[in-house]
Amino acid sequence: MKGTVAVGGMALSQACLFLEGQADVSPHHVENTDAELQRLQTASALCAGELSALIESLRQNAVADQAEILDFQLLLLEDENYMGRIACIVQGEQVNCEYAVARHSQLYREELSALDNPYLNERAADISDIEQRLLRALSRRGKTALPSHPVIAVAQDLTPSQVVELGHGKLEGIILEKGGLSSHCVILARSMGIPCIIGAAGILAQVEQGQPVLLDAEAGEIVPSPDEEAVRRYRQYQEAKQRERQSLEQFRCGKTATADGRTMKVYANITSHLEVPGILEQGGEGVGLLRTEMLYMEQDAPPDEETQFSFYSAIVKGLAGRPLIIRTLDVGGDKSIPYLGIPPEENPFLGYRAIRYCLDHPEIFKPQLAAILRAAALGPVRLMLPMVAAAGEVVRAKEIVAAVRRELEDRGTAAGPVPVGIMVETPAAAVMADQLAGLVDFFSIGTNDLTQYLFAADRNNARVASLNSYFQPALLRMVERICRCAHEKGIEVGICGQAGEVEQLIPLWVGMGVDELSVSIPSIPRVRRRISRCDTAACRELAGRALACISEAEVRKEVEQ
Ligand code: PEP
Ligand code: MG
Repeated sequence: MKGTVAVGGMALSQACLFLEGQADVSPHHVENTDAELQRLQTASALCAGELSALIESLRQNAVADQAEILDFQLLLLEDENYMGRIACIVQGEQVNCEYAVARHSQLYREELSALDNPYLNERAADISDIEQRLLRALSRRGKTALPSHPVIAVAQDLTPSQVVELGHGKLEGIILEKGGLSSHCVILARSMGIPCIIGAAGILAQVEQGQPVLLDAEAGEIVPSPDEEAVRRYRQYQEAKQRERQSLEQFRCGKTATADGRTMKVYANITSHLEVPGILEQGGEGVGLLRTEMLYMEQDAPPDEETQFSFYSAIVKGLAGRPLIIRTLDVGGDKSIPYLGIPPEENPFLGYRAIRYCLDHPEIFKPQLAAILRAAALGPVRLMLPMVAAAGEVVRAKEIVAAVRRELEDRGTAAGPVPVGIMVETPAAAVMADQLAGLVDFFSIGTNDLTQYLFAADRNNARVASLNSYFQPALLRMVERICRCAHEKGIEVGICGQAGEVEQLIPLWVGMGVDELSVSIPSIPRVRRRISRCDTAACRELAGRALACISEAEVRKEVEQ
């Protein structure tokens, strides 16, 4: 079977099917309500035991944020408004627990969502989580279904807490019938390094509980009951992976420096506070790109200042003094947010997006800026503007930042110092980099977009992939120019696009004087190792030769030597 690779890797284990989405929650008459209430009591105790054990283990592993989410769920099990009312439905209407749990959870979710309190609005997701946990516990009738041996989880979809829970146990892989590449579940799997395939429609009907399965999230394949050849492929992969892990161990800590002692930084690209523990574990020195779009995409209305402030401050606290670069809303292109009402466009990647939209919509832009300025009072935060194409956009954005700062002062709300930088990801910004460098505090090169705009080659179109390549000399010349302009004006320059973690290109970035590479969390040690093997003078020479190349093929030859 085929699916979409969401997190690369391979796993071979027994399938553990999660069928809770199919629990029978229709109403059934029950004669003995005392026995039914006893079932509810047992299920609740089981959930409380699971949650307490999990919270304890998260605390021991210093993953306090995740523990707090589960703390709230633990409280729900003692909440009269939640468990008490479920018990009332069972007793009063003489119905089964499953029905009562599902009905009341739905009602409670609606009540919380309707309140004028962002914190409680967000807790609606926890109701779904605890509802599923209770339904699972009810179907288990007292037996723990949490696997004690390695498994590959197979499900329609998983909740964030299921991934956290399974991920700290024996979870080797995840196969989802649904799932989105930017879903919380996938983000967590990525930050935990768990291979994951999504979009495997029909897998639940094809695989049996306990059946051995090979999950090949390199090729996007799922092989139930793999033959000897497939198993051998997996063993080879495992051996190579193990050797790689051992050699990377020493690069999970310490400072980043080249062999000749030039210091650099390796930061992480993230979308959620749930990824912070992963950054610390892999030795990330900060966050070089917080993509904030997901916060907006997950909701039906723009997140208000308070919601954003708690989101950003959770990350600032988790990073414990490491820097955090927050990118303002990069809506548009392939990231559509329906409630913002941007009309359909013929060329959305060239359309009304990111900073262009935000400058026209202060009601959306200002709450985000206020939340960022407030989070900066808690730790080192920088603000980054996406898709800048003209100096005027930077000037106007900085004016709005200054206005928001004054408004916070008037309100008596604390705000911290916030350096303002830009993504250099349009050719216009790259060409004007010498001027723009005088207007901002840092540059971060968005090679994903810069490449597609430079070559007029859609980053999502496989047919133009050879043009849309980070090995193209035209892109390298542009990156070199951006670095030079930044340094001439005395500001730092990073790369937060995917080119930053391409092994063969790292020596070029070192040679061009890039100060920081912001990469996916599991890549942090590998990138630090590659930098540590670089000699700056040799990298400069290599960069010079690559810049003189006429074709992508020539560049590849240079860097692969
Ligand atoms: C980029 O364009 O390189 C980038 C990092 O931003 P995104 O991938 O979110 O467009
Ligand atoms: Mg971009």
